[in-house]
Amino acid sequence: MDFALKHIKECQEKVFSGIGLSVQDVEKLFDTPDENLQDLAKAANEITRDFNGNKVDVEELNNIKKNACSEDCSFCGQSAFFDTGIDTYQLPSPQEVVVKAQNAKNDGAESYCLVAAWRAPSQRDFEKVCEIISLINEKVGISVECSLGFLTPDQAKRLKELKVKRYNHNLETARSKFAEICTTHTYNDRLETLRIARDAGLELCTGGIIGLGETRKQRVELTLELASIFPEEVTINILVPIPGTPLELQTPLPNSEITRMFSVIRFLLPESVIKISGGRETSLGDDGEELLQSGANGIITSGYLTMNGNSAEKDIRMIKKIGLEA
Ligand code: SF4
Repeated sequence: MDFALKHIKECQEKVFSGIGLSVQDVEKLFDTPDENLQDLAKAANEITRDFNGNKVDVEELNNIKKNACSEDCSFCGQSAFFDTGIDTYQLPSPQEVVVKAQNAKNDGAESYCLVAAWRAPSQRDFEKVCEIISLINEKVGISVECSLGFLTPDQAKRLKELKVKRYNHNLETARSKFAEICTTHTYNDRLETLRIARDAGLELCTGGIIGLGETRKQRVELTLELASIFPEEVTINILVPIPGTPLELQTPLPNSEITRMFSVIRFLLPESVIKISGGRETSLGDDGEELLQSGANGIITSGYLTMNGNSAEKDIRMIKKIGLEA
């Protein structure tokens, strides 16, 4: 057995035995030679099947407030700092959101995530979001998740009381890269919101966006940071360069780097949902079929915050075609 394959097998054995991987183990997995990448993906897939079965977590998003956001995240089409020409709108009525949540449930989505583009909700907007959640609970009965920016402890408790299952707040990138990507808040601000959400009893969804010009070493760093939080869900976006943002000309990441990221996260978080998020349809060339057999076990369907995506019907057909369950 060659050296790289031996290391992959040893790490897989540690995962099955409940032994944590060392930083060196993780670095070596990331540095798996291209000729062994299939072995890495296969081992990650075996871990996924063993811990999670064949089920793929299918989620739909609703960007309930498309906004000119006060923050300057350099990948984001909704930042007020960049002229990206997106349309903006305010919070819709609870009844409008209920119709969309019902459609998501009918599509086969298990969870429905309410996302708002702002630094943090004003108390007035927060109350409106709470009204929306209450009405979805009453009329639809789908698992509600939220991504509402920075939260206060009281707001997090309120979401928990409203039976919100999971709170999303991404780290975006490695700590060592963050200041290049965003100057209006800090990495620690992001970690603090995750802490507040967890203290309130909410499950955590966190992740980032890869392909921002970070190095592989920084992807290792992000992976280790995410794993240290033990989130119930990790969401990884692949940059889709948006005209008007500072990253509009960013060179795309090779698919091999994307596979490494998803596969290694699976070794570190065997039980978590690992979701392929923005960029799945535009960057991968196969809608995520390969990644769903390389460590990932979740997708977002029917569009993203500022982009359209595949229909749920098309995605569910793809999941079944590769022998998995939606
Ligand atoms: S990523 Fe979020 S916080 Fe950053 S600019 Fe976009 S909407 Fe605002």
